[in-house]
Amino acid sequence: MLELSQLAAQIRACQRCRLAQTRGRAVPGEGPEHAPILLIGEAPGMNEDRQGRPFVGRSGDLLEALLASIGLRRGDVFIANGVKCRPPENRDPLPDEIAACRPYLERQIELLRPRVVITLGRIAMARYFPGQSISRIHGQIQWVEGVGYVPMFHPAAALRNPPWMAALREDFARLAPLVAELYPGRTGEPLASPADEAAQLSLF
Ligand code: SF4
Repeated sequence: MLELSQLAAQIRACQRCRLAQTRGRAVPGEGPEHAPILLIGEAPGMNEDRQGRPFVGRSGDLLEALLASIGLRRGDVFIANGVKCRPPENRDPLPDEIAACRPYLERQIELLRPRVVITLGRIAMARYFPGQSISRIHGQIQWVEGVGYVPMFHPAAALRNPPWMAALREDFARLAPLVAELYPGRTGEPLASPADEAAQLSLF
């Protein structure tokens, strides 16, 4: 879709907030234009900033293993961040940075029209569930006008916290029936290739 690629070009050149001064590369997001599932993270980290791609490095490996656990590959979903440029030293994005960047994600959502939106981490969650605690509501799908919103722990946080890893894995497993519904010909069963199994075994 032309507009998604035009939007990505705008994001790469954006100077709307102070993060433009310190970023390496902006990270617009990536995935197929008709992806039924949109995953929203918080902001790029060091590896993402270097490569200009969302969720690379260990967090990306974990995300791919989680997707594989419900029969999906990375290319089946659209992956984006709420804030498109890396905050220095991986600090939390500031409210004015989140506000400056918000129109980009809003336009991506308008163009993609996802059926399910998964927020990864508390900052991405706050967009849809303000004032809520991620520990309390993670994994619970809420339907609004035909779109399901599911807050989950951030993969990077789960890598540092074994109980959150278990919760993240369970929350993904609960989406398996939806995969069968959203992706014709898929079952939601785990992918069985040796690479996927190895990835899951090393990360879970
Ligand atoms: S974080 Fe968003 S608003 Fe700020 S410079 Fe990057 S793309 Fe622009």
